Amino acid sequence: MRVEIVAVGTELLLGQIADTNSAWLGEHLAEAGIDSHFHQAVGDNHARIVLAFRTALARSDAVIVCGGLGPTQDDITRAAIAEVMNVELVRDDAIVERIAEMFGARGREMSDNNLLQADVPRGAAIIEQMRGTAPGLICPIGNKVIYAVPGVPYEMTEMFERAVLPDLHARSGEGAAVIRSRVLRTWGTSESGLAEAVGPRFDHHNQGTTGLTVAFLASGIEGIKVRLTAKAPNEESALALLDDEEVHVRSIINKTFGDIIFALDEHTMEDTIAAMLIERGLTLSVAESLTGGLIASRLVNVVGASTWFRGGIVSYASDVKYSLLGVPEGPVVSAVAAEAMAEGVRDSLKSDVGLSVTGVAGPEPQDEQAPGTVFIGLSIAGRATSSVHLRLPGDRPRVRQYSAISALDVMRRALSAE
Ligand code: ATP
Ligand code: MG
Repeated sequence: MRVEIVAVGTELLLGQIADTNSAWLGEHLAEAGIDSHFHQAVGDNHARIVLAFRTALARSDAVIVCGGLGPTQDDITRAAIAEVMNVELVRDDAIVERIAEMFGARGREMSDNNLLQADVPRGAAIIEQMRGTAPGLICPIGNKVIYAVPGVPYEMTEMFERAVLPDLHARSGEGAAVIRSRVLRTWGTSESGLAEAVGPRFDHHNQGTTGLTVAFLASGIEGIKVRLTAKAPNEESALALLDDEEVHVRSIINKTFGDIIFALDEHTMEDTIAAMLIERGLTLSVAESLTGGLIASRLVNVVGASTWFRGGIVSYASDVKYSLLGVPEGPVVSAVAAEAMAEGVRDSLKSDVGLSVTGVAGPEPQDEQAPGTVFIGLSIAGRATSSVHLRLPGDRPRVRQYSAISALDVMRRALSAE
């Protein structure tokens, strides 16, 4: 069963409103295990709406059209459906009565235009209106169908759940299916590298026979995501497919790149770090130079951060690094400075772990070091202090954001390697 969504409204094409209806429908069809391979948006133009319907019916089993059901001249969805069905519009007396009642109840005058909403293509069934004045329609065309629902989002969602989805399930006869996804989030390699390593799994699944698909999503400063999607008759078997595939993909990634998967699904780097610190009973403080508080800000995004986050020092000027953190006089974009910052902040804020970052955000070089040169220092109680030297790409905002997540990742790896 393939369903195509057609969103009607010139304001969608002009960018005056975003097509949130199609996004919502796409999400809910996927959740229900119903395939949707195409979405169209079309203006309030009879010939083009008819063309959109014919195109959709040629490649899909069902069409959901939203918008253009209202009482004004530009609401022409009903007439376009009638043309595609090759039938006439018939005024439905029961709808006329209901609309009249609604106006009566609100003490308002009904204009003749409102009667247009009672026009129904011959042979169509009506989805009674609950929230607005426009009823929806179920319009059979051969063994296919067009569902018409209003454009107003809360009317559309209500009709979809009450009438469209049950009808789709009844027609598909496939039985309900569920689609579930799992996202493995990585930091520290390229999309092409990942795609090459995981390529065999991708090829294995993306033929469409295993119930699973694999996709790669580059997410900028949040790394690269590997998304596994399973389609199965029920939740339990979809999750079993995901569990099984996660084991395969994890082992390939770990073998090729090491410990680069930092979280699953919606979890962030700082969520993972919070969990690790809590599990080990450790507290953390940070000393930041070029990130200027970005790291501390990410950490306090986590609810309950006060139990493990002591605080941070933004030591931007060199002499603040010297005087407040005990960094020895000399170049401040260096391994020596990064390590001294980590030890210094751990000491002055009395935490178990000290994390630091110093580097050149750009665009100008500093101390003869190129923009993107970054040193991350890490001091953990009972362990030797260490540092990592990175060359990060991008402009000033990117270098700062990359520095923040890289520093968190350095700490994550060190803690997990314990
Ligand atoms: P009405 O009976 O209210 O006229 P309708 O079915 O004619 O409903 P439209 O006139 O096309 O629907 O749209 C009504 C309003 O619903 C729009 O002004 C817009 O705010 C919203 N809307 C329409 N289509 C969409 C869409 N695809 N995504 C989000 N909002 C939409
Ligand atoms: Mg309208």
